[in-house]
Amino acid sequence: MKQGNTNIIEVWEQEGQIIEGLPVERKSDIKAFVTIMHGCNNFCTYCIVPYTRGRERSRKPEAIIEEIKDLASKGYKEITLLGQNVNSYGKDLDDMSFAKLLRMVNDIEGIERIRFTTSHPKDLTEDVILAIKECNKLCEHIHLPVQSGSTRILSKMNRKYTKEQYLELVDLIRKHIPDVAITTDIIVGFPGETEEDFLETLDLVKKVQYDSAFTFIYSIRKGTPAAEYQDQVPEDIKHDRFNRLIEVVNKIIEEKMLYIKIK
Ligand code: SF4
Repeated sequence: MKQGNTNIIEVWEQEGQIIEGLPVERKSDIKAFVTIMHGCNNFCTYCIVPYTRGRERSRKPEAIIEEIKDLASKGYKEITLLGQNVNSYGKDLDDMSFAKLLRMVNDIEGIERIRFTTSHPKDLTEDVILAIKECNKLCEHIHLPVQSGSTRILSKMNRKYTKEQYLELVDLIRKHIPDVAITTDIIVGFPGETEEDFLETLDLVKKVQYDSAFTFIYSIRKGTPAAEYQDQVPEDIKHDRFNRLIEVVNKIIEEKMLYIKIK
């Protein structure tokens, strides 16, 4: 707020409090992002988010539904529900879950398409998969960041799932939603990653057959546990693995596109 030549900053009294009703800038007249929760409890060892944005806090479903109904009344057609880990939505509320919220949003008149991001594999439950399958407005797309295909590196990252558990989850998703699009995030060159670990990642990528992947070279993020690890991977090795990973990912995507064209 500006008063005379002075900027006045209002400081909220309670840390972590969710403030409803603040104005939101929208860049499109048709698509809108709606935050459903704040913060993260997961403490992946490479990530600063839990330290900067605090613990998970879910917005009340009534506030979310009211915001989306208001967007629908203004002509918005597509909603993307946002959170660092949307699958945890509702764990801090009574009798609420992400699957329930998805079904509630699906019932809002005027909204035609619903997306969400991001899912943490350890929290993506079968009831969410069934909600995606059964709700007609939900896009059959799941962004499921794997980060590494090596169980050893996943443990060092504190991701709380193994390669096998991730692959089982992908199988469960495809069992319920055969035409689902699955995309991911992958980090190469995490501290301590050996050639064998990297080959596990390539193996997982080939098994999952992702529709798209965001690939990253690990870089030190100050203030995170991984920044202190002594076994950092040399830059040339990280770049070499990154290029090999991209080659495999692109080949899979090209083959899938070709298959879709032929179909
Ligand atoms: S990577 Fe995602 S799940 Fe992990 S700590 Fe960061 S925000 Fe949370």
